[in-house]
Amino acid sequence: MQPNLNYTKITQYIMAGNRTFTMIKPDAVRAGNIGNILQMINEAGYRIVAMKLTQLSLAKAGEFYEVHKERPFYGELCEFMSSGPIVAAILEKDNAVEDFRNLIGATNPANAAPGTIRAKYATSVGENAVHGSDSDENAAIEGAFHFGGVEKF
Ligand code: UDP
Ligand code: MG
Repeated sequence: MQPNLNYTKITQYIMAGNRTFTMIKPDAVRAGNIGNILQMINEAGYRIVAMKLTQLSLAKAGEFYEVHKERPFYGELCEFMSSGPIVAAILEKDNAVEDFRNLIGATNPANAAPGTIRAKYATSVGENAVHGSDSDENAAIEGAFHFGGVEKF
């Protein structure tokens, strides 16, 4: 007799919350901090699902941050995010989104907890070294923005 299980639901439950999306931003790439930040990500227990060095056009940065388009910092943010190469990556671990937000620290490095990536490597609220998705849904959208299926492992 088949057990009464809904395999789609079980798969969703197992997969939920285990991936986030990050970018090492142009300031941190320019400062030579790719290696230091990847080491912190590695030590926090994340598995790299996808990763690349790439550069956003101004239009692509605008699309990525569309949710912020009414905010006063939107123009500056898009200029900054397209100003040089970034490292984009999909990361996997249990409770990926929330744990990664804790690893990177507050948006403004002045408020970021000691030992967080932003406390160590961000220089201002705008140039704050790293991006981290704020929800499972956005992690999936942002990952798909940068990576196709054959680029994920
Ligand atoms: N940002 C900014 N000024 C602000 C708030 C945010 O330049 O007052 C930039 C900053 O680079 C931040 C990004 O816009 O990382 C997205 O803002 P959000 O509020 O989503 O912060 P995050 O989720 O990155 O911590
Ligand atoms: Mg955000």
